[in-house]
Amino acid sequence: MYICDNIGNCEGHLTFAGIDTTLLAEKYGTPLYLMDEDKIRENCRIYKNAFTKYFGENALPLFASKSASFKRLYEIMAEEKMGIDVVSSGEVYTAIKAGFDLKNAYFHSNNKTDFDIEFAIQNGIGYFVVDNIQELERINFEAGKQGKKQDILLRLTPGIDPHTFEAISTGKVDSKFGSAIETGQAEIITCQALEMENINLCGFHCHIGSQIFETEPFYKAAEVMLEFISLIKEKYCYEISQLNLGGGYGVRYTNNDPVFDIDGSIKQVAKSIKEICEIKKLSIPKILMEPGRSIVANAGMTLYTAGTVKEIPGFKSYVSIDGGMTDNPRYALYKADYTVLNASKADKTPDFKCSVVGRCCESGDIIQENVNLVKPTRGEIIAVCTTGAYNYSMASNYNRVGKPPVIMLSKGKDYIAVKGETLEDIVRNDI
Ligand SMILES: *Cc1c(COP(=O)(O)O)cnc(C)c1O
Repeated sequence: MYICDNIGNCEGHLTFAGIDTTLLAEKYGTPLYLMDEDKIRENCRIYKNAFTKYFGENALPLFASKSASFKRLYEIMAEEKMGIDVVSSGEVYTAIKAGFDLKNAYFHSNNKTDFDIEFAIQNGIGYFVVDNIQELERINFEAGKQGKKQDILLRLTPGIDPHTFEAISTGKVDSKFGSAIETGQAEIITCQALEMENINLCGFHCHIGSQIFETEPFYKAAEVMLEFISLIKEKYCYEISQLNLGGGYGVRYTNNDPVFDIDGSIKQVAKSIKEICEIKKLSIPKILMEPGRSIVANAGMTLYTAGTVKEIPGFKSYVSIDGGMTDNPRYALYKADYTVLNASKADKTPDFKCSVVGRCCESGDIIQENVNLVKPTRGEIIAVCTTGAYNYSMASNYNRVGKPPVIMLSKGKDYIAVKGETLEDIVRNDI
């Protein structure tokens, strides 16, 4: 299984979702975000089916909006019967505009503003995932003012390192998110939530990290959380009804990344949860998870046009493209891996070592270093694969570059989901 399954149609052009990418580049211009709607739906169904099969009808996967947020995506999530998590009033507003029922929306963030809290309660947000006590007090206050009792989960840190699987020892519980179980803060905030008049404590949440290709950290986290749930039940005679295990399943950005069986992993997590619940005499809570990248990343591709090809003799070569960190800041931020292809010559063997760089006035504006590419000439189309997550949602207007359009592909057809920004859009808020 390759990152890009459709290498080269009969003209040697890269296809994506069955469509010739060079034709899409010609039709819409570049840079261009492509998103395969059918793939997004397929990814949702992997979660939906696994959840129903292993956790029961009650369980709900939530799409982590921060990975890609625009109206059309919320429509698709509603149709696929997914819940969502949101982290800002902007995401809440986008979901409302798409007609998404906020009953199944969970509002995250380590620092919800007073406006966020007021706006979300006014619009009937299903749940807040509460990070800390100050925020809890504010939500209690605002819900009271609006005459409501607000459902919440509490975000806890179970102290699991997802990449070593080790429990992080006391004193090293260092995160800007949530309340740590082992410092006792989780219990304190739980007690406070239980005492508050306008708060209904429904459950607990944890998120152990991202790009995880193992199952063990998830069931270790579940184990720690269930132990805590059990402790709260025994000490305070209160049994919560929801457990949210966060997001984080890995996706393949390059052929070096493993193929990961999400269904199989969920099956194992479910087995472990059922066993622990039986031992601890707990009812199995409504299980939630918040996949972001594993829903949208492999449904995305970005197209660019090659510009300057610069060879520095005895050193290295650069291929400049007509986008960069403004539409994909992930290499600049954390050296994220990507697979890059010459879409105009997808049938040729790549033999040109180069760095693919953006057009911003910034040496760090790099899409990928040490890429092996079919050497492009100016005007050819360069494709970056697996860009459906954290690309459009992280795009900026640095250097006053407009954000590219998002084109959705489904069943051989293409349509605009988000228009590209024009020069007029760039100055629309300037007085
Ligand atoms: C980022 C994040 C997610 C989604 O993570 P992915 O790696 O995209 O699946 C889910 N929940 C929380 C709380 C997050 O911060």
